Amino acid sequence: MRLAALVVLVHLLAFVSACARPGSSARDPSRGESVAQLAGPDFVGDYTARWDVVSGDVFVEARLARGAGAALFVDLGAERWVRDAVVGVDHRDDPSAPLRPLAHDGRAFIAPECAKAPCRVRYRYALREAARSIDDVDVASEEGETVEAPPSTWLLAPFFEGDTTSKIRFRVETSDGSRFVTGVYPSSAARDAWDISLDDLRSSPYSAFGTFRSRVVDVNGARLAIAIAPGKLAIKDDELVAWAETRARAVAGYFGRFPLPYSLVLFVPSRGGWVGGGRTLAGGGGTVLMRVGERATTAALADDWVLVHELIHLAFPSVSRSFAWAEEGLATYVEPFVRARAGFIDAERAWSGLVRGLPNGLPAAGDRGLDQTPTWGRTYWGGALFFLLADVEIRKRTDGRLGLEDALRGILAEGGNNAVRWDLDRVFAAGDRATGLNVLRELHERMGSEPSPVDLGALFGTLGLVTSSSASTGRPGRHVITVRFEEAAPLADVRRAITLGRPGIVGTIER
Ligand SMILES: [Zn+2]
Repeated sequence: MRLAALVVLVHLLAFVSACARPGSSARDPSRGESVAQLAGPDFVGDYTARWDVVSGDVFVEARLARGAGAALFVDLGAERWVRDAVVGVDHRDDPSAPLRPLAHDGRAFIAPECAKAPCRVRYRYALREAARSIDDVDVASEEGETVEAPPSTWLLAPFFEGDTTSKIRFRVETSDGSRFVTGVYPSSAARDAWDISLDDLRSSPYSAFGTFRSRVVDVNGARLAIAIAPGKLAIKDDELVAWAETRARAVAGYFGRFPLPYSLVLFVPSRGGWVGGGRTLAGGGGTVLMRVGERATTAALADDWVLVHELIHLAFPSVSRSFAWAEEGLATYVEPFVRARAGFIDAERAWSGLVRGLPNGLPAAGDRGLDQTPTWGRTYWGGALFFLLADVEIRKRTDGRLGLEDALRGILAEGGNNAVRWDLDRVFAAGDRATGLNVLRELHERMGSEPSPVDLGALFGTLGLVTSSSASTGRPGRHVITVRFEEAAPLADVRRAITLGRPGIVGTIER
């Protein structure tokens, strides 16, 4: 996930809360004739962006609705590369009406015209220059011959805290064989356009300009776009596409559906022989960005866990920063079982990883509970422990009738995926509704604000996890922990159900 983007958002929220307009004018019928005619009543902006591959600039023309707001923003730190910006009242019958330079005041670009009347804004965004200077994949980065930057970096737009109603529509024109790829949901009403709310724009998915090879595959009714950036790769495109598709199907198998109706997996060639370096950014759509080493082999793809981890992120709502443990813990806990159920790894390997990792998630001295202890161990493994305890508890209380996946499917069924931002209470309430229990909320009550230590040895024992440690052959002085199963253990059936799901209901996926 993308803490940097959240930092940007937090800064932005802090700034704009001071200038939030009273009430919502999104429904004011008198505003925005031109944009409403172009897009629809909820639309406050209609943008056309043209990517110039030679200069690396994006030339943007925007029409904004009356009352769209006198302050326009790009991401924090991305302002310097807005160039030659001009603004004026939008006289639809007179496209040659004069535009004046758009003033810049710290974070905001000030356009009083846009508060009173439909207006036009035109500027050049020096995107390649910004990417070279910022070099942060969450804002802008140059990736070989391509430039990656979410639309929040280069679309100058109004922003009002929590405004999930007002939307903008944007189109992107490219030439010379280059293309634009993004995880933003395509417009359902306009061809070759994307629609996004002002709120979602601030965490909009990874997007890129360049000469991509791309395909769209159907995953249980969801559309998954797969784009491969130019660069040397030992692996063939077909193998990368099959890898993304099988991992997406495995995730859909666990969750009963693929989490987003549309999303993008963006493969970026990198150095070395490994795959990994995956990140997910979602808001009004979602993108998983994966780096693939130029010398990576088919075996490296088969062995990788990162892509599954990232795809699982798509299945949980974006929550605020203090609950990062829920997003990371869920992906950490579910990933081995998604892979085991799909037959990519065996049950022993799935559990060995958890048995090795979970001790990192126990509270140390000074711990203040999961919500207030943002260390690596508590975020990834403390979060994973939370979901293991929830999974065991749901299965115990329902005599094996239900499991964690039923709660997670319930959250998805209520629209709670990574493309939306929800309170954690709302997420857990939706999960609890699906099981008819209060397991998630009770556990959060217990583990969120207090250390709440867990006897892992006892827990592993009841699940029938017998661990043994042997000296590592490859790394002297290191030990390898392996797991075997004790089938007579009191909760051995719970462990089996966690590993493989309920026969006939969760099951393994068809391949
Ligand atoms: Zn993650």
